[in-house]
Amino acid sequence: MGSPRQIDPYAELRHALVTHLRHRGIRDEQVLAAMERLPRELFVHPAFIHRAYEDVALPLGYNQTISQPYTVAFMTSLLEVQPGDKVLEIGTGSGYQAALLAVMGARVYTVERQWELYQRARQLFARLGLPVQTRFGDGSLGWSEHAPYDGIIVTAAAPHIPKPLKEQLAISGRLVIPVGGPQSQILVRLRRVSEQEYDYEEFGEFRFVPLIGKEGWSETLETRPTSSSS
Ligand code: SAH
Repeated sequence: MGSPRQIDPYAELRHALVTHLRHRGIRDEQVLAAMERLPRELFVHPAFIHRAYEDVALPLGYNQTISQPYTVAFMTSLLEVQPGDKVLEIGTGSGYQAALLAVMGARVYTVERQWELYQRARQLFARLGLPVQTRFGDGSLGWSEHAPYDGIIVTAAAPHIPKPLKEQLAISGRLVIPVGGPQSQILVRLRRVSEQEYDYEEFGEFRFVPLIGKEGWSETLETRPTSSSS
């Protein structure tokens, strides 16, 4: 980041991706500007670096994927991030989503349960000088020490909306989460309007890898919810 455009071989591809996202309906200029700055080639698995700017999800190893750029842009738009907002992400993965939020000026907290991905993302945040706070553990329970959050984004598929995440939202905070079965989910946005009330909206069908944890799917049988609270 920060290097002059003319010596960045990926700048044109990055610009073309942003143009493509505009055509697909992404309108949030803050999101588009951040995507134009963030080097996605550093976040993909090295074996897929030549495909870093295609609008597709790519394997990260360990059965996980970096989300499709359109999905990242769409979910980030739904979060309605303002600079200075405190945002929690569940499912660090490659670190791309968390890094994007940091570039947008959010104070980012992110939780990952897969050790190698957690380590790799931490190194990348350090290398890029991005102030992202990381935690290794079960993010289906949130990260209560830093709550409340202006935004919470879950980038793995949940069987239901985890109660701890609802509780860790600030008043007027937004929770964006894919909810449903292991094969497909509905993208949901919950907005906390008061201590007890939430607005609920749905944004169509998506497909994510499973959220595994106390408020997610069980590790051994990924199709069975481990908890039925909501
Ligand atoms: N946001 C990521 C993509 C995430 S893929 C990116 O930008 O690349 C989903 C990630 O969620 C995987 O890395 C998976 O290990 C992680 N995950 C699944 N269940 C989790 C849980 N309970 N807590 C934290 N991370 C979890």
